[in-house]
Amino acid sequence: MTERVYFDWNATAPLRQEAREAVLRALEATGNASSVHAEGRAARGMVEAARAEVAQLVGAEAKNVTFTSGATEANMLALTPAIGVAGENALRDRLFVSAIEHPSVACGGRFPAQAVESLPVTTAGVVDLHALRRAIARAERPLVSVMLANNETGIVQPVPDIARIVHDAGGLLHVDAVQAPGRMACNMAALGADLMTLSSHKLGGPQGAGALIRRGDIHITEPLIKGGGQERSLRAGTENVAAIAGFGAAAATAHAARQADAAHMARLRDTLETGIRQTTPDAVIVGAGAARLPNTTLFAVPAMKAETAIIGFDLNGIAVSSGAACSSGKVTASAVLAAMGMEPQLARGAVRVSLGWSSTEAHVERFLETWNMLAGSLVKERRGIAA
Ligand code: PMP
Repeated sequence: MTERVYFDWNATAPLRQEAREAVLRALEATGNASSVHAEGRAARGMVEAARAEVAQLVGAEAKNVTFTSGATEANMLALTPAIGVAGENALRDRLFVSAIEHPSVACGGRFPAQAVESLPVTTAGVVDLHALRRAIARAERPLVSVMLANNETGIVQPVPDIARIVHDAGGLLHVDAVQAPGRMACNMAALGADLMTLSSHKLGGPQGAGALIRRGDIHITEPLIKGGGQERSLRAGTENVAAIAGFGAAAATAHAARQADAAHMARLRDTLETGIRQTTPDAVIVGAGAARLPNTTLFAVPAMKAETAIIGFDLNGIAVSSGAACSSGKVTASAVLAAMGMEPQLARGAVRVSLGWSSTEAHVERFLETWNMLAGSLVKERRGIAA
């Protein structure tokens, strides 16, 4: 059987070797990170080493990193009215989220539904800065949440510009940077982010760990999970030491290898897009001219059905995904493409190809050969629809 080609890195990335080793080391050891004996201190050491590694990835201080079970939970921790700059007592009165956020942000976290407002994006897939300025002027103490790079399109948001507007209005900015590590720089200070969310399994660590990182003077006064006081009482419960240790190791590698990896991915991505255009000149590559992650191609062909294409790729040993939100196996229209004003018929055919640091030219070749073969039958299908 031929080797599978995994091109769905934005859904989850393969485990990095360094992370595997760190996970195994932690699993072999016994110890609760809160215990005072040697075993407990060893577990604590692994958690704190990981905290420093995650902090370094985003240029933050280790003490401002809160480990969670993943990005969904980190987003829930961040999006609360009970957040502010030290010394400030008043609650945040409104939450603004862009129209292309992951569901874990789009749902508004711990804000009441009536205090959450969606911000439009332009047809280029970036937050409409004029609309942002107008919207947050209506709030007294706004909290704004935007992603650094979109998981479906790879389009990068102008976060430093957004930060300036938000700060001028007395607001705080939370950035969901889940898709960025190892692919682009994600230094919090350079971006102007007050809070940032990361996920272990998107950067080569194990699933089930994530982090919320705060600027030093930002305080969250309402814990996400109350209990034993772990994670400075923001997220109680015995730490998942193995997952956290793997997260730290993966973060360190993603940080160190970022520039070389990003250049490698961009080269492969460009070959892939040139090939798609050759086979199907009418293919639309979303965000082709925009600032984008180096690893993501979202393309659509008029009247093609994404499910058919994905099944075709899968049967030929290639894992890609639908541009449509695909959770619990159900495929619905993509809210991201709808927010960008893409025609629903076209959006329904969007296929996402996302690669990573261990992807190769041979993988891209396999993909393009398969696309060449499949596109023919999909064209026939299209003629069938038109008839
Ligand atoms: N935000 C973004 C942008 C994501 O892509 C994802 C994962 N699809 C999440 C948040 C949720 O991450 P996790 O699986 O760690 O909860």
